[in-house]
Amino acid sequence: MDSTSSKGYNHSMTTSHRVIIEEPPQSAEESMAMLFDQLSQPARIQILLVIREQPACVCHLIAALGLRQAAISQHLMALRKAGLVKTRRHSRFIYYYLADQRLISLIDTAAEIAKINRPTVLRLSRRPLENCPCPQCHPELPPEFSCKSLPASK
Ligand SMILES: [Zn+2]
Repeated sequence: MDSTSSKGYNHSMTTSHRVIIEEPPQSAEESMAMLFDQLSQPARIQILLVIREQPACVCHLIAALGLRQAAISQHLMALRKAGLVKTRRHSRFIYYYLADQRLISLIDTAAEIAKINRPTVLRLSRRPLENCPCPQCHPELPPEFSCKSLPASK
């Protein structure tokens, strides 16, 4: 009897003082859905496929995906924020790499379920790329080259 009356009291307190509650804690399913949501764009899957075996700088991602720098940067930012991709600086270059190697098996499993053949899955991780100016693809690069020296439009 006592406990019910105190519950009722608490209830009236909370309803009379309406507080805007911050984000409620996520359920397990919401957390998992969030992960798929962060991967729900083809360009993000492409980025993860490019860096599945070795890190890549922005120039390499531009050459591999054929997207504009602005679009790539936006996806990289989202992937970094989600904790799926990390960066490492090496001289004038910032390299992006997988934050968690288990992403590879997640993507490979997704590819199998979607019936994508293995060569197609691995196509984007191929190196060197002839049209890519990055130091991994073209080690003979002039020392003043950096990803920033690429024309802004491409
Ligand atoms: Zn390259």
